[in-house]
Amino acid sequence: MTHVPHEAAHLHARHQAVLPSWLSLYYERPLELTHGEGRHVWDAEGNRYLDFFGGILTTMTAHALPEVTKAVSEQAGRILHTSTLYLSRPMVELAERIAALSGIPDARVFFTTSGTEANDTALLLATTHRRSNQILAMRNSYHGRSFSTVGITGNQSWSPTSLSPLQTLYVHGGVRSRGPYAELGDREFIAACVADLEDMLQQTAGGVAALIAEPVQGVGGFTAPPDGLYAAFREVLARHDILWISDEVQTGWGRTGDHFWGWQAHAENGPPDLLTFAKGIGNGMSVGGVVARAEVMNSLTANSISTFGGSPVTMAAGLANLNHLLEHDLQGNARRVGGLLIERLRAVAAGLDIVREVRGRGLMIGLELVRPGTDEPSPEAASLVLEAARERGLLIGKGGQGGASLRIAPPMSLTVAEAEEGAGLLAEALRTAQAVL
Ligand code: PLP
Repeated sequence: MTHVPHEAAHLHARHQAVLPSWLSLYYERPLELTHGEGRHVWDAEGNRYLDFFGGILTTMTAHALPEVTKAVSEQAGRILHTSTLYLSRPMVELAERIAALSGIPDARVFFTTSGTEANDTALLLATTHRRSNQILAMRNSYHGRSFSTVGITGNQSWSPTSLSPLQTLYVHGGVRSRGPYAELGDREFIAACVADLEDMLQQTAGGVAALIAEPVQGVGGFTAPPDGLYAAFREVLARHDILWISDEVQTGWGRTGDHFWGWQAHAENGPPDLLTFAKGIGNGMSVGGVVARAEVMNSLTANSISTFGGSPVTMAAGLANLNHLLEHDLQGNARRVGGLLIERLRAVAAGLDIVREVRGRGLMIGLELVRPGTDEPSPEAASLVLEAARERGLLIGKGGQGGASLRIAPPMSLTVAEAEEGAGLLAEALRTAQAVL
């Protein structure tokens, strides 16, 4: 690949001088992306990359999808913004489509501008509806970076702040108590133990409003819950009349292949009470939203507005993107091509010591990396693989507890040839990293 490091290095220095120190940048050698097409992106030096991370799963269908570009520019040419104070045809149309697809009866849709704001709103709705500020969240979860969503984030790299207005209890892998439940101390509960969940609910005296969960944990490293765990939890929660919030910010729109929504993989108790979405539907436009039964959605009584939620340009992009997704059966493509990619990566991993596990559903694939010959998670290996893949023209993501997971989530239109090519490039990057470690 050609390297013209000077310009990017200069921009990097300006970035460091003016942006927050906690805003993480991938890659030691700075990378500035300038354009994209299909499943590829280009940097400022003209290097082309196969994009296996799609802007953290925002590029749902393809980069520069002509239908989306056309819808955005046509709408922008008419009117850029109106606010929710006036009727908006694109907003009503997209809300109708999402309500119908959600599986939630008598569904209402509220649009936001991000996943964080969608989850914030879901928490506001659930706590208002149940008149309680106690929320259950999963260990290793990630739901956003606002005041309340950080409080329900169980990911160690986003450790909950004591400032959260919510009282959060954690399930899945252990329960930690906070706030008024200090008497529970640091007592650990067993992951799949429904009896312990029941026990905890007894001790919290029926005050829990909702449980929020990602069907497959995203930032947590593309980790699915143990089989049957969510279904068992839901059964308990339904008995205690506790709401279920499914955070579908990463799992929605068929990315996991077998289902359109992640909740459908554990649907024994029907659809969730609330569902949040974001990322992919805008194909890069800033979007999020909450779907809930009318009874829950309308529990907020104050007249409210959203200045940018439901922006006509974003809604037009969403409609064009959704039409393309459904017309081209990209969910089916994610299942087929994702299945093949997982198979290839498992074959690669079988010959390597640094990969402990290849897991995933559809085009949401995680690799767990360890120090060769040990079971010790290796964030160092993940960083090395990221760099080595980039050198070969492949962009991937990382995450998980401590950053030892690789995350692969290409646009859902990925072709078989691109999957084969990407698997080959990743195999080389993994071998390179293993040789260094
Ligand atoms: N929920 C999940 C599951 C996420 O993965 C993310 C972001 O990665 C969020 C919420 C926050 O979304 P946003 O970054 O759009 O605020």
